[in-house]
Amino acid sequence: MDCVFCQIIKGKIPAQLVYEDDTSVAFLDINPTTPGHTLVMPKAHHANFEEIDEAGLAAVMRVVKKVGQSLKDNLGVAGYNVYENNDPIAGQIIPHIHFHVIPRYPGDGLELWPQGKYESGEAEKILNKIKIN
Ligand code: 5GP
Ligand code: ZN
Repeated sequence: MDCVFCQIIKGKIPAQLVYEDDTSVAFLDINPTTPGHTLVMPKAHHANFEEIDEAGLAAVMRVVKKVGQSLKDNLGVAGYNVYENNDPIAGQIIPHIHFHVIPRYPGDGLELWPQGKYESGEAEKILNKIKIN
């Protein structure tokens, strides 16, 4: 398996481990958005949300929560963002599902993505397509 994250998980590439258990791992992002930027992922290789099962996802989210708490407790940050880029069009570069946990600092300059407006009737059309019954 060529996946760089699988190689880190197998110990073939070094990483700065924040947390590890039987199913999940967390390590520092090599190019942090802010200091403490941590990646959390399953040990098993699954590309995206569609490939991982609910139990695996729940285990990873448990670790996301732990990491967020450590950032608050030990870096003293008041908050953090949790991001997952699901598939290349969404910016996913490494096809091994992972959550970015990014501590936020006053004046760090990060901004939310731009927000738009719906045309008249457009929201209803979208809603009718995506509503889950
Ligand atoms: P994606 O765009 O796939 O959501 O994010 C991939 C992330 O992995 C990027 O933020 C990038 O900096 C990080 N990354 C890529 N290669 C390595 C590596 O070898 N080690 C570590 N620690 N992080 C990596
Ligand atoms: Zn992998």
